[in-house]
Amino acid sequence: MGFKYQRLLGYFLGFILFYAPFALFQKIIFFAFTGKWQQLTIHSLCFRIQTEHLLDGKLLLMSLPFIACIVILLIVTLFFGPVFCGRLCPAGAFTEYLSKVIPSRLQISWRTYTEIVPFRYGMLAGFVILPFFDSLLACAYCNFFLFDLFVNYFVFGYFISLSSSMILTLFLWAGLFGIFTKGGRGFCNFLCPVGAVQNLLYSFSSRLPFVYRLIIDRQKCIGCKSCSLACPMEAMVIEERKAVNCVHNCILCGVCISKCPEKAIRYGRKDDEE
Ligand code: SF4
Ligand code: SF4
Repeated sequence: MGFKYQRLLGYFLGFILFYAPFALFQKIIFFAFTGKWQQLTIHSLCFRIQTEHLLDGKLLLMSLPFIACIVILLIVTLFFGPVFCGRLCPAGAFTEYLSKVIPSRLQISWRTYTEIVPFRYGMLAGFVILPFFDSLLACAYCNFFLFDLFVNYFVFGYFISLSSSMILTLFLWAGLFGIFTKGGRGFCNFLCPVGAVQNLLYSFSSRLPFVYRLIIDRQKCIGCKSCSLACPMEAMVIEERKAVNCVHNCILCGVCISKCPEKAIRYGRKDDEE
């Protein structure tokens, strides 16, 4: 099966796992702790809320399914990197594919205007510090919810509340940071706390020998920029005519691997390096 179809299959699997009417991930977790198989949605167990309470101690006061949910995400990230974003999350993939409908000359390459990583972690810091001031952001700007609205409006007859934060989120997620951003993943890069917390963990864990990560063979790399131009996260740069990967926003989508004419990039463990 071609790489394009493999990726699409992954996002389809992500849809079945996390979104109603299937939401198998949520159903399995709740079933494991309650013994009940019930109708659930992305809202029933959302990674954003637990991420928000990682520091303030309220995570430990949540019920076990909520704790298990974030623990599973972090364990998967620890061993395999932020593959949830790059291989499973349909909300991130949606804007990436949406961005392909307009020419790239009309799109903004944010990396040419600002440093992406400080912005990304700055937003995460604000996100996890706000609960100390009795404020919460998790549901205020949620692209998971917007994607759920798009796909499930007719199934569940959702009432679309046109709150100002939802309108702003739609503008940022699908508009400015989606269709008008190179690669279509500006929301993932700048605003998603679930992605940022995975990359923060990955930035440490990727140094460990048993962790799967992106590996670039500098001997094979000819600095052709094919990987850099294709990267939806702007996480690959060319320095001294060699490709360099940024662990702080690479989502391990594998696009660069498929585009490299020299087969210089692979996904594997440091252990496996020759
Ligand atoms: S560097 Fe490669 S794997 Fe990482 S986000 Fe970019 S294209 Fe995907
Ligand atoms: S596509 Fe391959 S050869 Fe070209 S710069 Fe990237 S890693 Fe190097």
